[in-house]
Amino acid sequence: MSAKKANLSGELKKYFGFSTFKGQQEEIINNLLNGKDIFVLMPTGGGKSLCYQLPALISEGTAIVVSPLIALMKNQVDAVNGLSSETGVAHVLNSSLNKTQTKQVFDDIKSGKTKLLYVAPESLIKEDYLEFLKDVKISFVAIDEAHCISEWGHDFRPEYRNLKQIIDKIADVPVIALTATATPKVQDDIQKTLGMTNALVFKESFNRANLFYEVTPKVNIDKEIVKFINKNKGKSGIVYCLSRRKVEEFAQLLQVNGINALPYHAGLDQKVRVANQDKFLMEEADVIVATIAFGMGIDKPDVRFVIHYDFPKSLESYYQETGRAGRDGGEGYCLAFYDPKDIEKLEKFLAQKPVSEREIGLQLLNEVVGYAETSMSRRQYILYYFGETFDPVNGDGAKMCDNASNPPKLKDATDDLRKTLEL
Ligand code: ADP
Ligand code: MG
Repeated sequence: MSAKKANLSGELKKYFGFSTFKGQQEEIINNLLNGKDIFVLMPTGGGKSLCYQLPALISEGTAIVVSPLIALMKNQVDAVNGLSSETGVAHVLNSSLNKTQTKQVFDDIKSGKTKLLYVAPESLIKEDYLEFLKDVKISFVAIDEAHCISEWGHDFRPEYRNLKQIIDKIADVPVIALTATATPKVQDDIQKTLGMTNALVFKESFNRANLFYEVTPKVNIDKEIVKFINKNKGKSGIVYCLSRRKVEEFAQLLQVNGINALPYHAGLDQKVRVANQDKFLMEEADVIVATIAFGMGIDKPDVRFVIHYDFPKSLESYYQETGRAGRDGGEGYCLAFYDPKDIEKLEKFLAQKPVSEREIGLQLLNEVVGYAETSMSRRQYILYYFGETFDPVNGDGAKMCDNASNPPKLKDATDDLRKTLEL
């Protein structure tokens, strides 16, 4: 065992240039290599990719990596190919490839060159891909962003639900599922749907001790945000709005106020969208005003604030969106504007949805309203939601929220108490 461990560090250094593993990476990789099914719950930035990339690189055969977004897959494939002097170590398989390209991928897999094959779940069900994959050596299957399986997750993809049946058709190999979504409901759902109730579970704390959480009433919001940004001049930040219209209006308002801001939403022309994102990443723009379409797979380490113009639909989304602040471990201010009327709007919107979706949506809303209205430590509230206990006095980052650094005035506390008693 110890010989193997020493060896793993060597491989880590050889392929990635890192001298030590992060968190539980080494244990995860050892167990995967020993044929165990594994479930990894680790916050964004925790280093999940390496948990399947390294074992794939040193195993015989090809690892199938299921991932939801083509852009994310491309980034990873380029990164992995950059680690090796050989070509074809990683490939993406999808319908955008022409015949020659597909043949190249198949040939590389057959020759044993390809160690990682990235596929979207909707590609995996294609009959000719399935037939091909059945006949080649597969080392293991990794399911990244595994929360996409669950309707309780923040990014449900129906195509993820049948993964278990598809994988069973391809090969009888270990499965590693990974996600940064850790609510007990999502976790349970993922394990059941993938038939992984016996998997080894590796869970790291979701506490982001360097983030400061504040919720404030939505009054004079435009002025308040301008004031906040001006106080933080030159720092990078994201402002999330619910609608595309609001994104454009508010980006303009910031520009008029002399703030270097750009809009981002899925309705913008692709070129403009990419250009705006790049300008933000390259520091040509300080602030990006965006819908939730912005952020997945964006890795800007020095985002110093995340402002929610509109309240998020779930505490999970809030955690993910605010999680884009302070990735480098430095300051990260998370400010959310709250107006119960906004919640009513969201409820009305949900009323038009099918029953099951509506019920899930309403419960998620209830939980996020609880967060907005709580007078307890916001960090404790968030972590409780993720199934973790947190000491609001001595825990790491205990002072880093409005309620802890500036406890609610007596009047508010009494109001809270009255509410509780009336329930
Ligand atoms: P996640 O998928 O959990 O959000 P990533 O796999 O994208 O995280 O990794 C986040 C960052 O951490 C990447 O820049 C990656 O290179 C880095 N990283 C991963 N493992 C290590 C390690 N053992 N040592 C140093 N950096 C690491
Ligand atoms: Mg990842």
